[in-house]
Amino acid sequence: MKSTILSIKNLHKRYGKIHAVNDVSLDIQKGNVYGILGPNGSGKSTTLGIVLNVVNKTSGEYHWFDGTLETHQALKKVGAIIERPNFYPYMTAKENLELVCKIKGINYSKIEEKLEVVGLSDRKNSKFKTFSLGMKQRLAIASALLNDPEILILDEPTNGLDPQGIHQIRDIIKLIASQGTTILLASHLLDEVEKVCSHVLVLRYGEILYNGTVDDMIAHEGHFELQAEDMERL
Ligand code: ADP
Ligand code: MG
Repeated sequence: MKSTILSIKNLHKRYGKIHAVNDVSLDIQKGNVYGILGPNGSGKSTTLGIVLNVVNKTSGEYHWFDGTLETHQALKKVGAIIERPNFYPYMTAKENLELVCKIKGINYSKIEEKLEVVGLSDRKNSKFKTFSLGMKQRLAIASALLNDPEILILDEPTNGLDPQGIHQIRDIIKLIASQGTTILLASHLLDEVEKVCSHVLVLRYGEILYNGTVDDMIAHEGHFELQAEDMERL
């Protein structure tokens, strides 16, 4: 039987006159690597904010894990990075993760394993303030993985990184996905979604332009109403 991690139905968000999310529906099955693709302002972050319970929806519904858990219980099984990584600058990577474990009541035993996944084992005793943006982002991913979430949500994780940093983050996402973790990745980069994701929801002005497999999107590019200017912005 298929197991649905997240189901969104007819979601709307209005900020005054701005219809930021306009009738978005989406089902993410266990093991999917789902992209939300769209130019800046298309409603990606707002959609993520709603399902993470940090933005209030205007109308519509969403259910985590087939509605089997209360939202706050469900969100304990969700790892999310929706802001710039923010840790204590004068503490080491490992000390920062120990603090996260302490605050969230997670066993410290996972720290070494997660530092390994993000390729930071050899820098675990370095202070956070010495890290590049890419390393900070990787530490944030390790932190979000500490409790072995069912799904990892990332909002534009490669923004601002150099090509090597971008490559590293994409490889880490693929590694985490290959280990069975479901992924939801918001991105404005078409090639990022093509390289990393199995499924994609394409948004423009908060509306769905396409929803399906990445393979079908590539096969049918041009069949859905993507205009040249949108493609460039994607
Ligand atoms: P994306 O993440 O795809 O760049 P957002 O979800 O951040 O898009 O924004 C969607 C639309 O909602 C944009 O027009 C944005 O200006 C607007 N918006 C987002 N957050 C707010 C807010 N707190 N108040 C008013 N408008 C907002
Ligand atoms: Mg955004």
